[in-house]
Amino acid sequence: MKIVIQKFGGTSVSTPERRQKVIEKVKQAIKEGYNPVVVVSAMGRKGEPYATDTLLSLVDDKFKNSNKLAQDLLMCCGEFISSVIMSNDMYNSGIDAVPLTGGQAGVTTNSNYTDAKCIDVNPKKIIDLVSQGRVPVVTGFQGMTQEGYFTTLGRGGSDTSASILGAALQAESIEIYTDVDGIMTADPRLVEDATLIDIISYNEVFQLADQGASVIHPKAVEIAMKANIPLLIKNTMSNSKGTLINNLGDKENERIITGITHQKDRIQVLIKLSENEGNFKYQDVLDLLAANKISLDLINIFPDRQVFTISAKVKHVLENILESFKLKYNLVEDCSTIAVIGSRMNGRPGVMAKIIKALISNNIEVLQTADSNMTIWCLIHEKNVKEAINVLHKTFNLA
Ligand code: ADP
Ligand code: MG
Repeated sequence: MKIVIQKFGGTSVSTPERRQKVIEKVKQAIKEGYNPVVVVSAMGRKGEPYATDTLLSLVDDKFKNSNKLAQDLLMCCGEFISSVIMSNDMYNSGIDAVPLTGGQAGVTTNSNYTDAKCIDVNPKKIIDLVSQGRVPVVTGFQGMTQEGYFTTLGRGGSDTSASILGAALQAESIEIYTDVDGIMTADPRLVEDATLIDIISYNEVFQLADQGASVIHPKAVEIAMKANIPLLIKNTMSNSKGTLINNLGDKENERIITGITHQKDRIQVLIKLSENEGNFKYQDVLDLLAANKISLDLINIFPDRQVFTISAKVKHVLENILESFKLKYNLVEDCSTIAVIGSRMNGRPGVMAKIIKALISNNIEVLQTADSNMTIWCLIHEKNVKEAINVLHKTFNLA
């Protein structure tokens, strides 16, 4: 058996015309001697009738938040619908397609509803179907608890489903089909002259995905990397060869920077010693926040102040904690973290200086910076994101 996982994102399955393109990709794989296992997301994006966000808006927030089990059941519906409709269209074009839920496909998760973790995969049904020459069309984004409750795998979960199944089935490759030609040097919605990356390492793409590039979910990259299965990102609507993700990445390429991405909705938090003189909790701020599961980034501790960033989603939790300990603080809201990523920047002096110089000379204020061996982060005001990414894209000749 030569299994290939073919995962199709929401826009790829949203119209009959696009589903015909999906069918072409499946037929091509069969023609090349592969046994495809298809994974689908819910149809369309926010605002469209069967998209997950649309379904979620049908019930009250209060109900959803107090009943995560019900929320997950509702969130699974988008994929149920798309796997049945996709199977219908495939069947009509001569492919013996069989829709399967995540649970039927053998994905067992813990019961952490809305962000469940896969704890076991038993792909027996898939193997049975494939060996009969049939094509399973698995609902992405979902699994089932040992007790038989539906769960979902969190944002970007259909990519994760594809990798989970790819690893369990020891697939030859995992193909992620979407609405762009592959992984680009920057989000093409923000940078007009972003270019396609032909080959990239798991590590670099993990960084890009983890730092905001929504084109693939970081968890999916991690699982494929552990199983050492090549990932391919391709466009459903074109015949572009896409991006190959493997262990080595592009050995030929000498670019220092591989790509630029950003995370929005960040808040910079500044806590000054001078405003908290005599408050012994000042020293414990990071521990207090960690104990409340608030994740912090860009942490800088100076003798006279502590600075870090948080997601805007946890602003109220942070404020409640700091206020309950009478700690004074300042917030800079509406920030974004730009991440400049490239495995070859390791050991090359001057990259950070070049980034800062480029931003400042374009009147873009840099609020904070950090670096690791593969990534440089700059915190900037959200209003400057598009310009900053374009400036850096040009500075490092990525077009
Ligand atoms: P799907 O529904 O197929 O999973 P997503 O919206 O999750 O699609 O991912 C595709 C989108 O990712 C593209 O439309 C693009 O705007 C965005 N994106 C962000 N960063 C990048 C990047 N570096 N390369 C390509 N696409 C990117
Ligand atoms: Mg996606």
